[in-house]
Amino acid sequence: MTETTPLITSPEHSVEGFVREFLRELNFTQGTVLERATTNDAYLALARTVRHYLMSRWIETTVDHYRAQPKAVAYLSAEYLLGRQLDNALLAADLEEIAAEGLASLGLDLAELRDAEVEPGLGNGGLGRLAACFVDSLATMSVPAIGYGIRYEYGIFRQRFAGGRQVEEPDTWLAGGAPWEFAHPEHAVTVGFGGHTEKYTGDDGVERSRWVPGWQVLGVPYNYMVPGYRNGRVNTLRLWSARATHAFDLQIFNEGDYVDAVRSRTFAENISKVLYPEDSTPQGKELRLQQQYFFVACSIRDFVDQLLPAGFDLRRLPERIVFQLNDTHPVVAIPELMRVLVDDEGFGWDEAWDVTRRCFAYTCHTLLPEALEVWSVELMGRLLPRHLEIIYRINEEFLAQVRERSGGDELLVRRMSIIAEHPQRAVRMAFLATVAATRVNGVAELHSQLLRDKVLADFAQLWPEKFTNVTNGVTPRRFVRLANPGLSGLITEAIGDGWVTDLDRLRELEPLADDAEFRRRFREVKAANKGRLVDVLRRRDGIEVDPGTMLDVMVKRLHEYKRQLLKLLHVVTLYDRITAGEVSVDDVPARTVVFGAKAAPGYVMAKEIIALINHVGAVVNAHPDVSTVLRVAFPANYDVTVAETLIPAADLSEQISLAGKEASGTGNMKFALNGALTIGTDDGANVEIRRLVGDDNFFLFGLTEPEASAIAEAGYRPSSYYEENPGLRRALDLVASGAFSDGDRGAFEPVVANLLAEDRFMVLADYQAYLDAQARVEAAYADPDAWSRSAVLNVARSGFFSSDRSMRDYLDRVWHARPLPG
Ligand SMILES: *Cc1c(COP(=O)(O)O)cnc(C)c1O
Repeated sequence: MTETTPLITSPEHSVEGFVREFLRELNFTQGTVLERATTNDAYLALARTVRHYLMSRWIETTVDHYRAQPKAVAYLSAEYLLGRQLDNALLAADLEEIAAEGLASLGLDLAELRDAEVEPGLGNGGLGRLAACFVDSLATMSVPAIGYGIRYEYGIFRQRFAGGRQVEEPDTWLAGGAPWEFAHPEHAVTVGFGGHTEKYTGDDGVERSRWVPGWQVLGVPYNYMVPGYRNGRVNTLRLWSARATHAFDLQIFNEGDYVDAVRSRTFAENISKVLYPEDSTPQGKELRLQQQYFFVACSIRDFVDQLLPAGFDLRRLPERIVFQLNDTHPVVAIPELMRVLVDDEGFGWDEAWDVTRRCFAYTCHTLLPEALEVWSVELMGRLLPRHLEIIYRINEEFLAQVRERSGGDELLVRRMSIIAEHPQRAVRMAFLATVAATRVNGVAELHSQLLRDKVLADFAQLWPEKFTNVTNGVTPRRFVRLANPGLSGLITEAIGDGWVTDLDRLRELEPLADDAEFRRRFREVKAANKGRLVDVLRRRDGIEVDPGTMLDVMVKRLHEYKRQLLKLLHVVTLYDRITAGEVSVDDVPARTVVFGAKAAPGYVMAKEIIALINHVGAVVNAHPDVSTVLRVAFPANYDVTVAETLIPAADLSEQISLAGKEASGTGNMKFALNGALTIGTDDGANVEIRRLVGDDNFFLFGLTEPEASAIAEAGYRPSSYYEENPGLRRALDLVASGAFSDGDRGAFEPVVANLLAEDRFMVLADYQAYLDAQARVEAAYADPDAWSRSAVLNVARSGFFSSDRSMRDYLDRVWHARPLPG
């Protein structure tokens, strides 16, 4: 790796050069000719052509990293919600115009080929998308970094609706060919599972433990390019795919059962077969723990064997690497590194612990107790017996320290133990991560505060210096420059194009908020984006949207804490008031309420809510009067590609979680950067958005976190809101009456009953405040000039939410690593 042969130069950066390369790919790799090529043939040839332009940068970046031996960041994430690759690669390589022109000269349409790409949906929602934004920023900032994850054969399910209810279909994203990945079976690593541990006496006379795994799996790395934006850098995302080992097969072949041997191959390969479609509520399934251990064990092995020079002294590992744990999914990497150092490398325990502690940092992504991952001791012991021993010892030493510091406070010791005793003995992964990591961060100011004060309060008392905040961000390349070419052009015309990599420069737009001509052009862009959305929804979903209406958008995973039901109660109330003749269609602005949301397949209530939204939508849209001012659109299968057309068209961004439940949100940032105004609670990063864009340009409503906690403390009674608020009562009664289910009163009874009896996320408590805030929205929307002034200010003041800034914060506060020059 130190000496490389000279590189074949990239194809010529011109239309002619591009066309030549494209035709070569079509003929030689795709094996067809222009006249006979299908759209998919042309897409694959195009993808490979673009790849070639990035290839030499990729190899150079890899070689530079190896030569410089800098401190690198290894981002460990079980999810990467990447979105389509072609557009981003074209942008990074500065090939957009050349490709469009070159393809047109061959009678091909770039836009049509783009649409042929199936996005790799290797994540559920915000957490996976965050990982994708972060690797983009790291590449663009020339930070030596590698992303590690799992190459799921099936990503997040495809959602469709049948009778308004969610149906899940497998995501066969690899079926059409996978032009962006490079398999490296020659760098496969072996990972063990199960078996037992045994004691033995080493050459040094010291008694040691070792793991004798019961079965093994091969991890094959697949590399993906992560191109920096026009900086000559291409980083690597390395995703692991599970294969059966030959030894594994042979053993069973030798036992004589061919069919069983083939079946066991499938068993091993199951590990990377499918992404768990759960968001915020992990189910604790054995296969999931297998996935977690599989990818972190592969990644640690890979880093040590491939990226460090031969003979590297692992005592110095913390100088060369920091493993960032994206939530608890990769936390089993901590006992794995201990195992490698102690069992494989012969380190003493204390020495190994000292190294391990300095190699990890942990990001917590939740406040919901049910989202804090735990693994039963029974399962951990069966699947990873040596790791369980290591975890026990880490816990023992940690608790001894707690005992000593607290003067033997056994209540505290029990509270802080990495091993929970009830309802079953289980490993608390968030605690393990907190004990081991050099830094623990939340993902927005409020979230980090609540971690310190509530979720991890005992730990924050013990180690206040460990805790920090890094507010999330989103990449301006994908979510502004690519998703919103109209706005990007307008911004660049006004302030130049430096904002794409320095988003704070959007501030320079502020004076233009007062420029009537700029606002007019801003509105023109918004109108064009709505037009584009209308086309997409018509073609994709057969949904008709009136581009002249206010677009009121709530897109995110379906979860009760996010409160899609609160939005829906607003719709039902509007419907009720108009049909009752209390509100005239002449007095309200016409609006289209757009929902986009997938529910975890096993989350029954979330799926009921989806059905209810679709049923209410059908009735609203069919009503002759109501539908002139209110329509509901719920395109199926919300994903990154949909987000990219929907968000730039939005007028109003719905960020209405119960305060204290949304860790950060990143959808909220995408909307603000695209000039939507937010209606939102004081939750997650909404707090920072509002502080930056200003109270006048944000519709705040609802309980604050301390208020919600106080109500919960005192005993929340949702039915009292029902009893005291006639509008709310009518809305809920309407749902219960069967008005949206062909008279079937039972259809949505569980949803209404749950709101009245429990309402964990205080939808009813916030209902009136939400309606009042929507009245303020209506008044504001009636003045287009004032509205677009606020919208421009949202854009100008949201530069802070670039993931480049998040990366700078991580570099300074957590990783203590630096970009490479050039
Ligand atoms: C940004 C994004 C999310 C996260 O949205 P939140 O509103 O922050 O929950 C989820 N899914 C997709 C496809 C996204 O692009």
